[in-house]
Amino acid sequence: MDKNQVWAQTLQKISTKISMMEFHTWFKKVHLKQISGGAILLGCPTEMNKNWMENKYQSMILINVKKVLPEIENVFFEVDLALASTPEQNPEVFVKKQAPRKLPNRPETRSATGVESRIIQPQFTLQNFIIGEETKFAHAVCTAIAETAVNEVKKYNPLYIHGGVGLGKTHLLQGTANELLRRNPNAVIIYTTAERFTNDIVKGIATRKMDAVRKKYRKADVLLIDDVQFLGGKNQTQIELFNTFNDLRDMQKQMIFSADRPPSQLENIVDRLTSRLGWGLIVDVRMPGFETKKAIIQEKAREMGIILPPELEDFIATNIRRNLRELENVLNKISIELEISGKSPTEQSVAKIFRSLNPDDDLLAGNKGKQGLAKGPDDIITFISDYFHLPATDLIGTSRKKEIVQARQIAWILCKEILKMSYEAIGKAFGGKNHTTIMHGIKKIQKLRRTDSTIARHIHALKKDLGVR
Ligand code: ADP
Ligand code: MG
Repeated sequence: MDKNQVWAQTLQKISTKISMMEFHTWFKKVHLKQISGGAILLGCPTEMNKNWMENKYQSMILINVKKVLPEIENVFFEVDLALASTPEQNPEVFVKKQAPRKLPNRPETRSATGVESRIIQPQFTLQNFIIGEETKFAHAVCTAIAETAVNEVKKYNPLYIHGGVGLGKTHLLQGTANELLRRNPNAVIIYTTAERFTNDIVKGIATRKMDAVRKKYRKADVLLIDDVQFLGGKNQTQIELFNTFNDLRDMQKQMIFSADRPPSQLENIVDRLTSRLGWGLIVDVRMPGFETKKAIIQEKAREMGIILPPELEDFIATNIRRNLRELENVLNKISIELEISGKSPTEQSVAKIFRSLNPDDDLLAGNKGKQGLAKGPDDIITFISDYFHLPATDLIGTSRKKEIVQARQIAWILCKEILKMSYEAIGKAFGGKNHTTIMHGIKKIQKLRRTDSTIARHIHALKKDLGVR
């Protein structure tokens, strides 16, 4: 049964349970977007409609959709603004079928013949690259380059993008190549990796066909070479690239390079080549922050057809710490488990996936889950006693041992800053202490926090663990 039929049958059932007016007001434009792993995702035309659905109809929808598809366990909602402007989704209680919504701005990729474009993956585009603070400059420059006609004067030539593993360099290079191919179907866009380039040169030398190899690269309107750090120690290849570089630059052809470090730190590459790589514009990409990570997760999940509840997006975003390739691994595993077990992913099942990938990592609770973790002074006492491995009774007691006194004062400052408690209230929560004791204690730790970096770090870490920024 396809999803339109599932939704049509569900609506049929719902329409008999509520008034026609209610039904028309709230369900008219709601659309079933996805069925996956025991969950359905409903698109709602407005934020208000979504909130209303969530608060009032969620369980009713679940009960009725289960009558159609018994394996459904969860109902999720998202706002889909496109629905607001379309005519009714389900006129006269759902007869008309809806054409699948086209994804915005997904360019088709056409490959120029005879070039290496076959290794360019169509799924990497500049449109589905999520822009955050850490990558927006690199993305903007790539877009500007992609939008410059191949025979125009180049502003950023060469462009050199550097950053650690899994931070989007290949995505940007291939996305730029895809956009260039789309805009200039007859141009010769060569994307290659330094490794392939090296293999080409080695083969050219071995088969005495260097002329053909040289010609191939000199033909490029745009040459993109990924991971040039790989050229370290490959002397012959470096000379060839040096010569190709000079020729292409003379002809005003655009070049883009990527590497895991800036040109000045490349090892075992001749100076005249590294200096040329840095002649144009050098930009870096860094690990994105929480919000950007979350947006990337949403985009990838959508591309893979997985529905993730918001808490899980938070949980994954919090725990992807080193590089975004991990993210692809995690989502792939979720998708495989979904296929095998048919169950919606949960925080436990995803935590297991993380542990299987990085057994040594401590997992952090998702951001949402953490917020408001400290609801009262007792929570802070429990947290601190756990953090410093001290019994809670020491924290509310009167021991003058230095580390106990400091832990206690840190607990007070957190009560003050997170819970906004008064000195009196804190004193009461910590075994009936006088408010002046609390005030002096907080002053003391406040001062230490400015001079002692260990104390400052503890407070920072505790606040972070408690979901406070
Ligand atoms: P690198 O080449 O720097 O090692 P990749 O380009 O291969 O990294 O990126 C690793 C994964 O992360 C890819 O799946 C890529 O699509 C994804 N990725 C990285 N940055 C972004 C971003 N800003 N938006 C969307 N996906 C991203
Ligand atoms: Mg790469």
